[in-house]
Amino acid sequence: MNYEKTAHVILTSHSNQVFKDALPIHWGAKTPDLRGPVVASLTDERRRNAIGTHSGSYTVYRALSIAAGHFKTSHKPDLHNTESTTIIGPHESWTDPDKMVSIDPWGADVNVHFKKDFAKGYDIRPTIAVTQAHLQIPEIQEAIKLGRLKPDGKIILERGDIKITKVAMEPVWYLPGIAKRLGLDEGELRKILFQQTGGMFPELVTRPDLKVLLPPIGSTTIYIFGDPKDLANPNIELTCRVHDECNGSDVFGSDICTCRPYLMYGIEDAARTAQRGGVGLIAYYRKEGRALGEVTKFLVYNARKRQEGGDSAATYFHRTECVAGVEDARFQELMPDILQWFGIKEIHNIHSMSNMKFDAITKSGIKIHNRISIPDELIPDDAKVEMEAKKAAGYFAPEGAKKSDELKAVVGRKIEESKAEGKK
Ligand SMILES: [Zn+2]
Repeated sequence: MNYEKTAHVILTSHSNQVFKDALPIHWGAKTPDLRGPVVASLTDERRRNAIGTHSGSYTVYRALSIAAGHFKTSHKPDLHNTESTTIIGPHESWTDPDKMVSIDPWGADVNVHFKKDFAKGYDIRPTIAVTQAHLQIPEIQEAIKLGRLKPDGKIILERGDIKITKVAMEPVWYLPGIAKRLGLDEGELRKILFQQTGGMFPELVTRPDLKVLLPPIGSTTIYIFGDPKDLANPNIELTCRVHDECNGSDVFGSDICTCRPYLMYGIEDAARTAQRGGVGLIAYYRKEGRALGEVTKFLVYNARKRQEGGDSAATYFHRTECVAGVEDARFQELMPDILQWFGIKEIHNIHSMSNMKFDAITKSGIKIHNRISIPDELIPDDAKVEMEAKKAAGYFAPEGAKKSDELKAVVGRKIEESKAEGKK
């Protein structure tokens, strides 16, 4: 292998590795100068002031690429022309240390915010990027054909493309703030994060002076319909969906859940809102399978479909808990940080049935007016099990939920068992 050999490994977990070149971070300070940049790049160990590094879960792929000799460890990005296509903020929420604890409010356009530190050679990397795109979606074409949407040449182009602004955000966790949000002691949080990642970041327990962690988890993407600046204006109608990733449905159209139909309906309504002078926002969080992952999710599908009596709304949550140990590993407490970044104060229409999401958003100080559930005709047959189980468990349902004996009658498709090999 011809990877670049570094002279030696610097263990930043040693307490004598506190360098004077590492700039302090004052989370919630009024200006980027006072706050200080998050330096999590690896080109100069002496200047780092955070635990972990950039690119979330892709960190490990970068390591493989470096090991394979394709990637120079000394590379510093040329950020010229990478600046945001729309300048967002700063908003009041950016300088409130409690409003945003899982993203860096100054994470976009770092070459502008921290120009002075760049000049001194600090290798500061963006954790937020803002760009533009056109969306071409079959369900939107269908909505146009059925007359639910009309091209206006502005938001929806003549051939059905939707013009949007999109924002990618990598997680940057301010550990004291995360602990406070979850009602935990910071030391306890650091210890559990260390233990449950197999000891991935020793600094969590040995360097209490480092308060910021870039965790190796997925990022969040935000799609904005209309002018992003209108998001902060409570007098302009905002339609919003906060969606948790479901690869099987979102991308491949698997019919066991309502994720893609709900997402597409949210996009349609977000576009419609922008067309009537409002603004739409879809946030997409990488929390696959209720943050339990796809392997667990597929095991649960099998366990649900093979149980006695078949896949039933009555036992929907129970089967997940049997396999995973918990019904749902998502917690929504950090989710509203994204909304705070845009300065959102009111959401006029939210496409979500989840009370956890509703409570987290309102607790963060954002007012919600209307809650919108998915129209029945958009729910695939096999997904009725999930839908009825959720309603019975207390998810938002204006039309009410089925009683427990009725839930048993809501059943899904069975597994088609394959014969053992050689026994055709
Ligand atoms: Zn799904």
